[in-house]
Amino acid sequence: MSTTTQPATILDAITADEATGRPIPDAATRETIAYAPVHTVADLDAAVAAARAAQPAWAALGHGERSRILNAIADEIEANAEELAVLLSREQGKPLDGPNARFEVGACAAWTRNAADTVVEPEVVFEDGAARAELHYEPLGVVGAIGPWNWPMMISVWQIAPSLRMGNTVVVKPSEYTPLSVLALAEVFNRHLPEGVLTVIAGDREVGAAIAAHPGLDKIMFTGSTATGRRIVESSAQNLARLTLELGGNDAGIVLPDTDVSAIAENLFWGCFINTGQTCASLKRLYVHDSVYDEVVDALAGMARTMPMGRGLDAGNVLGPVQNEKQFDVVRRLVDDARNRGARVVAGGEPAPELGPLFYRATVVADIDDGAALVDEEQFGPVIPVIRYTDVDDAVARANASEQGLGASVWSNDPDEAVAVARRIQAGTVWINQHGALNPNIPFGGTKGSGYGHEFGIHGLKAVSAPKVISR
Ligand code: NAD
Repeated sequence: MSTTTQPATILDAITADEATGRPIPDAATRETIAYAPVHTVADLDAAVAAARAAQPAWAALGHGERSRILNAIADEIEANAEELAVLLSREQGKPLDGPNARFEVGACAAWTRNAADTVVEPEVVFEDGAARAELHYEPLGVVGAIGPWNWPMMISVWQIAPSLRMGNTVVVKPSEYTPLSVLALAEVFNRHLPEGVLTVIAGDREVGAAIAAHPGLDKIMFTGSTATGRRIVESSAQNLARLTLELGGNDAGIVLPDTDVSAIAENLFWGCFINTGQTCASLKRLYVHDSVYDEVVDALAGMARTMPMGRGLDAGNVLGPVQNEKQFDVVRRLVDDARNRGARVVAGGEPAPELGPLFYRATVVADIDDGAALVDEEQFGPVIPVIRYTDVDDAVARANASEQGLGASVWSNDPDEAVAVARRIQAGTVWINQHGALNPNIPFGGTKGSGYGHEFGIHGLKAVSAPKVISR
């Protein structure tokens, strides 16, 4: 428990000096915000050893006390919300306003509280008068958490809070693009946690690989690309670490015939463009029936042209930059390729250099089909391809043709008809008339190339536990 005087700001508490640290740019301006520590595999080994040493006492505290501590952490997140949101906005790029930085910090408190308040009881799985078997959920030990750069605080909380709740200790590695956000979050957690229970290792991809293969870890919670997920599976053959893999998505939406476009337009827009399109479970290809195709394209393009984009700290902006150059190049390549193939760029379609080096205008691409890279690959940025269809069965087949299966959505005036179509789509979640809405009580996870294992609620808590049968 830290009792020493707190540094003036959370940022002061987490940054390294210029000589040893790595400069982290403001995503919008590219000016250095601060220097992040550069941790090594030796630091990782020390963190795992500390986590192993701390775990028995943390588990021995029991559910009631861990729940109390997690609720205190949720209060602490809320008390520091604005400082966390400003740092997140600068490092990640998402604006303070809209469903962005303040929203993400609010979600951190909500998910922490949910992990605190959800109870996993032992289950009687068999009883016949003579015999009785109970299934208990024990701590696993030490959890290694590896995260991406798009929702760095919220996704870390999804990994950390349930793990702690179930009596595990945690070593977390943020993306090399967003270490400050996760260091800041952990600084707030650690005001209430015993030494060694939660440690951030701000290392690069090599350190990530060392976590995945570490013999001292019992479980890896990984959120990131499918390519990296495959490497983590390979590593788990060595240490037999349990895995939860939340991987990439290429989520399809299907707008059914004769849908009232004005009723769905706003949800459709945010389904595509939340976090400036840099969201795992956002709409990445939209199949629209011929009867409403032009209306949907016009509605999305109208909003794309007018939705305020700019530096996150400036009030009123709701779209920000692409977080890093590598992703910016992906977005530009995919849109240019679509245009060269004859697709119609209805809004955007180019960078917005007057806003900053990595801003790309919100882009709507029409008259495009499967086979174009923009449809087949995950763009992970502010662009949506809109594909025309005439036959619902064909749209379902195309939605399912992807190797990914994270989320999907069906849009219709008739919820029963929408549910009937949803049941035929291969995805971990299919939303109706919305896309990407998450709730800490509702399990979330992918199918096919989007990974396996579930997070959130009781399912999520069980996934960071060792099931044990007591049979008599
Ligand atoms: P990424 O796979 O490049 O990196 C993710 C993390 O893995 C980073 O911390 C990175 O340092 C680490 N890493 C890299 N190589 C590693 C290795 N060999 N072993 C272990 N760790 C390694 O992904 P990204 O670019 O940060 O994130 C974007 C991707 O994440 C997109 O595909 C997106 O769809 C996906 N994503 C999925 C979810 C979900 O819940 N399913 C959520 C957010 C993002």
